[in-house]
Amino acid sequence: MPVPLKDIQDRVSKAEAKAGRVPGSVKLIAVSKVQPDARVAAVLDQGHRYFGENRVQEAAGKWPSFRETYGEITVDLIGPLQTNKTRQAMELFQAIHTLDRPKLAKTFARLAQEMGQCPDLFVQVNTGEEAQKAGVSPADADAFVAECRALDLPIAGLMCIPPVDEERSLHFALLAKIAERNGLTGLSMGMSSDFESAIALGATHIRVGSAIFGDRV
Ligand SMILES: *Cc1c(COP(=O)(O)O)cnc(C)c1O
Repeated sequence: MPVPLKDIQDRVSKAEAKAGRVPGSVKLIAVSKVQPDARVAAVLDQGHRYFGENRVQEAAGKWPSFRETYGEITVDLIGPLQTNKTRQAMELFQAIHTLDRPKLAKTFARLAQEMGQCPDLFVQVNTGEEAQKAGVSPADADAFVAECRALDLPIAGLMCIPPVDEERSLHFALLAKIAERNGLTGLSMGMSSDFESAIALGATHIRVGSAIFGDRV
């Protein structure tokens, strides 16, 4: 069952204070992928209005009706995006954390022109350079950010998913360093098991699933 959201918010506040961060500067994204609707409703009932989803299709099936019941809700895409779902994603999500290749950047740029709007975009960096993981390599990140800016895309920051078996803080620090040298302030990093460490290293958006909702069923 879901943990009281307040417990998680208290941990976020403590981590902000400990790191000397401005109170409330870290955005808590409740990652609701594959969670039963009742658990999502329980978190909405506690007043939370910022969620993250992994798949366009799943989000499209879930959030329109929650928005009807609860009003305005921010939902971000934190999972991989197929190019042919870009338009749908731009209609559904306020931010997309997984911009990871030139073809997708060009598609966002074309559709943004056409639609007259674009969600905030985070460039995903494969800090562990893992073959199975999406994201640009740290060495290619500066050039890719420049390419996105040349396309006039609203790049809000960087995102990473560190390797499971490595010291996370090294990856958070690397992501922060790449962001800083590119003049980017957004850092989407930190999950249930490591969000306090991510906050210490500058996370602005933490993506927390199981710690809020319980294990995915
Ligand atoms: C599922 C997921 C999360 C949340 O993971 P938890 O360990 O349940 O907090 C965060 N980020 C991404 C990209 C995910 O896919």
